[in-house]
Amino acid sequence: MDFLSSPLQKLKGIGPAKAKLFQKLGIRTVEDLLYHYPRGYKDKSEVSDIKDLMPENYYTIRVRVEKKVQEYKSRKSLVIFKLPVADSTGKLTAVWFNNRFIKNLFSPGEEVLLYGKVKQMGRDLIMESPEHEKVTENDSLHLSRIAPDYPLTEGLYQKDVRKAAFLALEAVGGKLADVFPEDLRKQFNLAEINFCIQNIHFPDTFFNLELAKRRLKFEEFFILQSGLLHIKRMNSEDREGIGFDKVPVAEEFIAKLPFKLTSAQLRVFDEVCKDMESTKVMNRLVQGDVGSGKTVVAAAALYKCVRSGYQGIMMVPTEILAEQHLLTLKQLFKDTGIIVDILKGSMTAKEKREVLEKARSGELHVLVGTHALLQDQVVFHRLGLVITDEQHRFGVRQRALLGTKGSNPDMMVMTATPIPRTLTLILYGDLDISIIDEMPPGRKKVETYFINSAKKERLFNFILKELKSGRQAYFVCPLVEESEKLELNSAVSYSEVLREGHFRDVQVGLLHGKMKTDEKNKVMESFRKGETKILVSTTVIEVGVNIPNASIMVIEDADRFGMAQLHQLRGRVGRGEHQSYCVLISDSANPVAAERLKYMTKTENGFDIAEKDLELRGGGEVLGQKQHGLPEFKLADILKDVDLLKLSRDAVEYVYGGNLLQQEEYRRMKAILDARFQRLLDEVTLN
Ligand code: ADP
Ligand code: MG
Repeated sequence: MDFLSSPLQKLKGIGPAKAKLFQKLGIRTVEDLLYHYPRGYKDKSEVSDIKDLMPENYYTIRVRVEKKVQEYKSRKSLVIFKLPVADSTGKLTAVWFNNRFIKNLFSPGEEVLLYGKVKQMGRDLIMESPEHEKVTENDSLHLSRIAPDYPLTEGLYQKDVRKAAFLALEAVGGKLADVFPEDLRKQFNLAEINFCIQNIHFPDTFFNLELAKRRLKFEEFFILQSGLLHIKRMNSEDREGIGFDKVPVAEEFIAKLPFKLTSAQLRVFDEVCKDMESTKVMNRLVQGDVGSGKTVVAAAALYKCVRSGYQGIMMVPTEILAEQHLLTLKQLFKDTGIIVDILKGSMTAKEKREVLEKARSGELHVLVGTHALLQDQVVFHRLGLVITDEQHRFGVRQRALLGTKGSNPDMMVMTATPIPRTLTLILYGDLDISIIDEMPPGRKKVETYFINSAKKERLFNFILKELKSGRQAYFVCPLVEESEKLELNSAVSYSEVLREGHFRDVQVGLLHGKMKTDEKNKVMESFRKGETKILVSTTVIEVGVNIPNASIMVIEDADRFGMAQLHQLRGRVGRGEHQSYCVLISDSANPVAAERLKYMTKTENGFDIAEKDLELRGGGEVLGQKQHGLPEFKLADILKDVDLLKLSRDAVEYVYGGNLLQQEEYRRMKAILDARFQRLLDEVTLN
């Protein structure tokens, strides 16, 4: 319908000035307005008799104006306007303060609706600053109904938006085309779109409002999930991928490892092998809590890839992690003839050129790197497998980009991000999922404590003892530079304090994001070798770092971190045979902060922590665009509407499984989905 895309000024009563105000809310067209949903509703639907009014409650009344508005001046230069009104059961006075506009609004004998709080004033009943609407032939917009409350902007009033929405709905006249054809609506019990848009703005009953909300939420979920499924299908079914050889990896590679793989690792590797051997393109998410041993599974897959005559890449979010994986893979592939190299932003042009040449000629087999791998110059001789580690840092698009570097290479995505189980479905809806749900044997629980800074003296003495027996410790501080505003311990000055105080006889290293890569590497190297005993660091240490001898993690101002982040940080210890400790220091008086930290001391399960985090912070905050990069939903709440989420997934499968998009009734849905997929790809980054 053309009318939908026409500018708001097409509506009666909206001139350029008002249109500007609407624009501030992102509303330009009639369609924008229809999808500008109320933030809440006030039930003004029941009209009461004056005789039944109880002071201190809100009511809608339908009354007759008795006299003109009377004006009084109070001592405090307050102007009071009083309007005597009555219905057949009694009298009441409506009262407004300093509102000149009221003065000439009402004439005696007129019928009006009033909504507001009733008060007793001596023997009189008054209604304070009531909302008002004259009774006309038309339906009531504002009163004697369930009235919508819209998000507003300065200068724009509820009445303006209500009226505009009303006029828009009237003009549309129930002729919106429905994305969901009738058979789908029947199947999934969804209300029709015109009913929904009408009722989301001006609900006849709260029941109808619920029906409307249900369907509109369902639609939001449906579009996101079909987008993800679309990507998944594009990735896998439509393209011919590589069928890797049945390499005897178990005998040649796994048997030579210094440890036995857990049964979870073996199962996941088996799933990966099946994907790799089939000519379907692999798109598999390998999820496993911190320390569950994902790297070695990745290595086994790379082994299989290289033995089949292909090259592999492993992309990671930080250079520190890239360096570490390089070391690990070199170690694991020792004596196999597999050549591993690295590409990262901080290398010199010459170094980069050399590596790129080796990648192109096929001289190197496995290339580890950061985002630098995404660049156009990175070309391979025969790319077969793309692995991304700590996937939550990469978006769907970046993954897709990597895929273009070979001819449909297999993709494996690894993450420890403890996102709640229900969300895995959405965030990774385009991937098949394998879960490493078992820790390597012999891991001791990381003992976690939550203390305030008064106890630091004791803590430091304990740490000294641990260092003497050969262990190492991380100290994490939130910020690099002293910020007066936040009064946080900066890593720089913090390390000085440690060096000059308790730990003067100990080698203390410092690592932060603003250091040059070379410096960072040196610091990490020294810590890895055990020369540096204490590493003071900002959160650059957060993901993936694996130094088994480090057994203590101290986190200052722990309340400043999210629970998922604390869990990642804690995951840096407890990686070897030594009893490990994590100490969360906070002086925050905030009870929620304390509850979060206490919870951390009670569980080590990343998924439980994620669920708790969600519970404490609420869906909006945890799942905001910033955290997970999900497109924002207007109505749906991933937490509260889990059932709808699942149902919409069924619907997506119903539509795609039955190839229904090819049918005539689905033409509109197809057009809308096609238009939105590109945006979806842009929006869904898990950053
Ligand atoms: P993450 O899953 O967090 O990436 P890593 O792959 O870094 O974990 O593994 C953590 C540590 O556990 C490493 O030191 C690794 O060598 C070790 N490890 C992995 N698998 C096993 C196993 N099956 N038995 C014993 N140690 C293992
Ligand atoms: Mg890892």
